[in-house]
Amino acid sequence: NAINIGDLEKLLILGHGNGGMVYKVCHKDTSATYALKIIRSNVHRALSEVSILRHATDCPYVVGFHGSFENSNGEMAILMEYMDNGSLETALATNGTFSEERLVVVARDILNGLAYLHARNIIHRDIKPANILVNTKGEVKIADFGVSKVVSHTFEMCNSYVGTNAYMSPERFNPDAYGGSYDGFAGDVWSFGLTLFELYVGHLPFLEGGERLNWATLVCAICFNEPPSLPETASVEFRNFMACCLKKEPSERWTTTQLLTHPFISKDLRSY
Ligand code: ATP
Ligand code: MG
Repeated sequence: NAINIGDLEKLLILGHGNGGMVYKVCHKDTSATYALKIIRSNVHRALSEVSILRHATDCPYVVGFHGSFENSNGEMAILMEYMDNGSLETALATNGTFSEERLVVVARDILNGLAYLHARNIIHRDIKPANILVNTKGEVKIADFGVSKVVSHTFEMCNSYVGTNAYMSPERFNPDAYGGSYDGFAGDVWSFGLTLFELYVGHLPFLEGGERLNWATLVCAICFNEPPSLPETASVEFRNFMACCLKKEPSERWTTTQLLTHPFISKDLRSY
């Protein structure tokens, strides 16, 4: 497994974000393809991402990890499994909204990944379509652990302000309204619910027509409006499942283990 960074040839850019660039690369000797994430700024974040990926290599719902490299300029590179169908964000932009049948499968895979992480005290903290990857084998995997956190025990507070605003749960904006402390796992479930909402409806709740709300309006909508609900076109099971993910009170929100038993996820696919 000793891949040398010098043996990798950059083919194209797969994406870029706050942290750096992600390239599709080819290993010259084996001609195997990988994704290489290069992080120029926050090395601390890169190290934490590497340690989480390393600990999740036996989970089929987390993107595969093949090694990491550090150079003398303090840059880090993370070698990952290449997911040849890109992210769910690109899938939504190119193929349009997802059918409910497709979302059952996608939701079950993401939930299995989140349940694995939560059982190991890992909170992802940035679940959204851009951070869920898919491949032509039909696999769905969680990626981008740049702002994730390992909590030493489940009582630890986890209300630091990281992640992507529009997907953040009410208790992350307004911790005092929820007793000032919560375990943080429920925040991933909220973001997961909003992710499914966006893939089904085509846009986030509160962001109809794709207009960008200013930050204050968005926070008010998340904290003071009724939780978003799916349109009538969705099945009763799906609407109920969404309501379980989007309970405003974090202690009432279902956990990943509970959600895996919900009829929307556990029902026989042939019933469609
Ligand atoms: P951060 O939030 O830590 O700054 P980022 O958003 O820049 O990270 P990622 O989310 O890991 O970085 O990757 C950015 C984009 O690159 C993804 O949305 C996806 O489109 C693409 N990408 C990342 N990893 C892979 C991969 N393993 N296979 C295919 N495409 C990938
Ligand atoms: Mg990302």
